[in-house]
Amino acid sequence: MISNTGTKRLICQYCLRPQRTCICQWVSTVAPAVDVVILQHPMEVNNAKGTARLLHMSLAGSSLHTGEVFNADDLQAWLYADARMPVLLYPETPDDKSLGLISAPPLLPAILENPSQLRLVVLDGTWRKSRKMLYLNPLLQKLPRLPLQDVPASQYLIRKAHGEHQLSTLEASCYALMQLERDEEKYQPLLQAFRGFVAQQGSYVHMPGEV
Ligand SMILES: [Zn+2]
Repeated sequence: MISNTGTKRLICQYCLRPQRTCICQWVSTVAPAVDVVILQHPMEVNNAKGTARLLHMSLAGSSLHTGEVFNADDLQAWLYADARMPVLLYPETPDDKSLGLISAPPLLPAILENPSQLRLVVLDGTWRKSRKMLYLNPLLQKLPRLPLQDVPASQYLIRKAHGEHQLSTLEASCYALMQLERDEEKYQPLLQAFRGFVAQQGSYVHMPGEV
């Protein structure tokens, strides 16, 4: 269904994009055993090349919250609902200590044994913005971190200055879920659909007058 906004652009009510660039056709529904919480930086909300909404629409049961500083009670509830164990999709970084971040607890192999007890927490933002979210929300600093292993080169070539080893939020999350659920096949349809999304966005990039 399409609703008209004050700007006279037709907005798709599902993906919240202008109808012309609606991404609903790229939604490929998959039901992860791991619960997924996406924390989106406000600057990503209207980024046409962002992938968090497509990810959220594709992952059954996932939730998406937008903000930079979250209310600690809300965040606590999102992280620990249903007694799941949250892990943060974020690499160990050498400057953690110099920034005064709390040292992340180790990721114990035992907690990875049962994906249905896990929650993957994903930060959607540029490197700087996701770092800021981590800095501003101490509850996130207390989460064990999940580093990605053996990640293929990114298909995500539409964002400026995007290196081939910098993954989109959607790709990084799919690879993390594959790793946690030890299942490569399950997420291939979503990654395939994502390539269609990239091609669509890529074609818009070169269109005159397109924002
Ligand atoms: Zn749509």
